[in-house]
Amino acid sequence: MGRALIIGAGGVASVVVHKCVQNWEVFEEICIASRTKSKCDALKEKLDGGKTKITTAKVDADNVDELIALINDYKPDIVINVALPYQDLTIMDACLATKTHYLDTANYEPLDTAKFEYSWQWAYRERFEKAGITAILGCGFDPGVTGVFSAYALKHYFDEIHYIDILDANAGDHGYPFATNFNPEINIREVTAKGSYIENGEWIETEPMEIKRVYNFPEIGDKDMYLLHHEELESLALNITGIKRIRFFMTFSQNYLTHLKVLENVGMTSIEPIEYEGQQIVPLQFLKAILPDPASLGPRTKGKTNIGCICQGVKDGKPVQYYVYNVCDHEECYKEVGSQAISYTTGVPAMIGAMMLLQGKWKKPGVYNVEEFDPDPFMEALNKWGLPWKESFAPDLVE
Ligand code: NDP
Repeated sequence: MGRALIIGAGGVASVVVHKCVQNWEVFEEICIASRTKSKCDALKEKLDGGKTKITTAKVDADNVDELIALINDYKPDIVINVALPYQDLTIMDACLATKTHYLDTANYEPLDTAKFEYSWQWAYRERFEKAGITAILGCGFDPGVTGVFSAYALKHYFDEIHYIDILDANAGDHGYPFATNFNPEINIREVTAKGSYIENGEWIETEPMEIKRVYNFPEIGDKDMYLLHHEELESLALNITGIKRIRFFMTFSQNYLTHLKVLENVGMTSIEPIEYEGQQIVPLQFLKAILPDPASLGPRTKGKTNIGCICQGVKDGKPVQYYVYNVCDHEECYKEVGSQAISYTTGVPAMIGAMMLLQGKWKKPGVYNVEEFDPDPFMEALNKWGLPWKESFAPDLVE
């Protein structure tokens, strides 16, 4: 059916490639392109020989001309951006220049400011519309499936959703004293930033990790979770009818937070460049270089993740409470695709989003967040492609 150019060859890209190859009827041809071509070649070597034709290429995704040349040469139907958030705009520029559909899993961030918002990418709406191409933003798990879950809840069970709490629990244990489950630089920028949530149309800011709750997660049990800023709050507050308050919580162990505090206190999480022996280095980038590569956590991680949305609102004038979530097992993911559940829960939705576009189910000119499309075919595909979901109409609520 189609041909996809996958940019990036890290933890998430590896899952996307595995899943595209499993879904060979849709992904007849893929090209894996990244800065370090040997990583693309290693993935090709592992998965070659099936029905999907795999090629590889070297590309610097910060360079629009290089991207345009690659797209013109390969002529993909869609570009799946699973490089880093810093590359979102250059890849969108190249897609515009070549009239190629676009999908990513994280919103654009400038390298020198940890600022998470959609404004930069939403500014492309008119240009994508005029070019007749679709951009699907934030199609991982959170953002991604959390938006699809919210749209599904609204479509089937509510007239208005007043409160959404997105809960992201990782009860996985990799056995290292400290490691991050996805790109350490992006992860640490996210969790050391101030927290925030939206109430009555206003952003309320909190200190990092200021708001803590304990939640009894299905299939995982009690976990400490902390309120974080998260990018889907911004789009869901606009796109889901009736929102009065929307919050995002993620679980962290005391051990993780203690390590992070020490690293922060000694300046290792800073993104301000410093001079070291005549060379400019960014402490956080140096820290990334010495921490375990998230891709190496796969064989060591045991336990489960549980990510979902608790929605409260009304249907036909009556109050409704609804919890929809996915539980994913790190070891099962590793057995299937050689990655832990964090990469798995991001890579599977990225493949599904690309499939939705190639099948014409999620295709309209412009720039969209996932909750702006019909959730039903995506929800069905989650069950089929490895992320089955469960629902409850009497969930424990978060205070
Ligand atoms: P990794 O660091 O494992 O992989 C990133 C890849 O991008 C690497 O292969 C890297 O190349 C490549 N890359 C970086 N810069 C460039 C560049 N200038 N040109 C070409 N390639 C480049 O990250 P992850 O796989 O963990 O994460 C990928 C994306 O997924 C991130 O944007 C992250 O924010 C997002 N994510 C989204 C989640 C969600 O639920 N929505 C959850 C987790 C992650 P090299 O090998 O040379 O470094």
